[in-house]
Amino acid sequence: MTSSPSLPSGDLLWYRAGWGPACEELEYRLMRGAIRLGRILGIPIGANYTWFIALWVLAWSLADAYYPARFPGFPASTYWTMGLISTILLFASVVVHELGHAIAARRYGIRTRSIVLFMFGGVAQIAKDPPTPGAELAVAAAGPLTSLALGGLFAVVNPLAAGSALGAIIAYLAWVNAGLAGFNLIPGFPLDGGRMLRAVIWRITGSLERATLIASRTGQVVAVAFIAAGVLRAFTGGGIAGLWLILLGWFMDTGAQGSYQQALLREALGKVRIGDIMTRDVHTVDPGLTLEQAVADYFLPFKHGGFPVVWGDRLLGIITLHDVRDVPRDRRAAITVRNAMTPLSRLRTIRPTTSAYEAFARMAQDGIGRLLVTDLDGTLLGIVTRSDLLHAIRTRVELEEPSAERAPSTRTRPR
Ligand SMILES: [Zn+2]
Repeated sequence: MTSSPSLPSGDLLWYRAGWGPACEELEYRLMRGAIRLGRILGIPIGANYTWFIALWVLAWSLADAYYPARFPGFPASTYWTMGLISTILLFASVVVHELGHAIAARRYGIRTRSIVLFMFGGVAQIAKDPPTPGAELAVAAAGPLTSLALGGLFAVVNPLAAGSALGAIIAYLAWVNAGLAGFNLIPGFPLDGGRMLRAVIWRITGSLERATLIASRTGQVVAVAFIAAGVLRAFTGGGIAGLWLILLGWFMDTGAQGSYQQALLREALGKVRIGDIMTRDVHTVDPGLTLEQAVADYFLPFKHGGFPVVWGDRLLGIITLHDVRDVPRDRRAAITVRNAMTPLSRLRTIRPTTSAYEAFARMAQDGIGRLLVTDLDGTLLGIVTRSDLLHAIRTRVELEEPSAERAPSTRTRPR
């Protein structure tokens, strides 16, 4: 720890739209522990609780080792003040870096939902993927360029305060911003450099999925390198710095893996229409049935977790096992399906022209296992479940890759 006061702060720019289920979970965890710090340019700025750990560790390492070694002869209280100010300004620099991304994204009409500080730096949560390779490149490059400019600014004003404690802090910030830019330019997804690499491959191949697959793989290689370096460091007396590298590598690997899986899914499901894979022959339930009848006639014989409730042609809602379980057993003979069901107003339905990937994303986001497919009038056309989607993936994989034994290099893939 003592040897590396200028920890590179890993800014991981995560686009929500670029997230697989594993990443959704990570993003959720990050947001759940976030405290609101304020709002800049209309973007809420928050801090995850892990940020306070980083704040403390970094301030301590600066006050205890870095500043005393470089600027000897001051009392401990001065070093502590310097350490705290430097740490706060370091994280302010991270916010400025994220704002660089946000402003570039705004130029392409993409909103930034929030900026969250956490243990490894900051995350700008950008509402969706940039529309073109050029936009992706610009949004990804904006962060490191902003850090580089900020570092340059500190370097230029540094001579004005040379020799003083303030000068020491400014010199540190110049280095740390240059480090922030350099670290984020490492071409491993989901670092900015990885995003820039993805933009270039996207431009060359014309396929965002291909580009994401390749960039995520390089991200995993970089992550493994971080972990290896961390282990080496920990065993050669690096202590906390080694542990920090291992955690950062693990964290990057999770992000890269999520993006990889998500790109695979998008490739498999993006061109499939819901109308082609939904189950059309749906068992529907009459709203006037009692719950007891519904259990005996539908839930027990058909083993589904839920049934659409239909009156004539019209979809009224869905009755699920969960809805039934909410009603005490002794009252199920008296309560009707209509009174216990989840009504249409609280349901998310989907059109048959929607892509299977979109359906998958919605299910993951809402934590549900099935979506009802309706036309514009609200007439029930069918139902699509998670297992329908899995079946569609399996079928496509088997159809597109008839010979699994063949070497990958000779495999041709229809575009
Ligand atoms: Zn960045």
